[in-house]
Amino acid sequence: MSKIYFASQNQNKIKEISSVLPVGIELMGIDAVTSEELEETGETLEENAVQKAVFVADKTGESAFADDTGLEIEALNGAPGVISARYAGEQKNAADNCAKVLKELTGIANRKAQFRTVIALIRNGEQHLFEGIVNGSIITEPRGEKGFGYDPIFVPDGSEKTFAEMTLEEKNQWSHRARAVKKLLDYLNQQ
Ligand code: IMP
Repeated sequence: MSKIYFASQNQNKIKEISSVLPVGIELMGIDAVTSEELEETGETLEENAVQKAVFVADKTGESAFADDTGLEIEALNGAPGVISARYAGEQKNAADNCAKVLKELTGIANRKAQFRTVIALIRNGEQHLFEGIVNGSIITEPRGEKGFGYDPIFVPDGSEKTFAEMTLEEKNQWSHRARAVKKLLDYLNQQ
């Protein structure tokens, strides 16, 4: 059983990633490492993912990975992007963030958006990056109770449902994070 730390305190993400990890890899939480929120002071998703993974790898001396995700909306020039968590303010409230997106897109016909996840893995002192993208669109009213963040306003291309109307298994068939995790696992399985 190999051990790998996931530098996140987001229980939703931990659940999503645990559900796609193969047997043989034990996912470690970071409660023993820190109870403080990990710093994300980078200007890109890549910088933030590396910052979090390096912090945990340094603290534990073990392999560690971290993800950073942004919702990138074409008509808003890629916003909210790297500031997705605090788009509507430092309270980091998902309903407020969704409401702000819908307001910004009022009267705009182009609703194209993508979720992009970057995973940084620190292993044996080396840094590796993996990216997962899902294309879709922003609807006009939130729908669904599942998931988190911007899930109620995002419909992936090819689906009728928002991410918040999908079970975890369904979301994993489409999701940016599942795609980035698959690349991470393909890499780990080759080692
Ligand atoms: P972070 O990767 O935790 O920094 O995520 C940044 C922001 O994007 C947060 O507001 C999350 O709620 C949101 N977010 C991240 N992943 C997802 C997702 O899978 N669905 C919806 N929102 C997400």
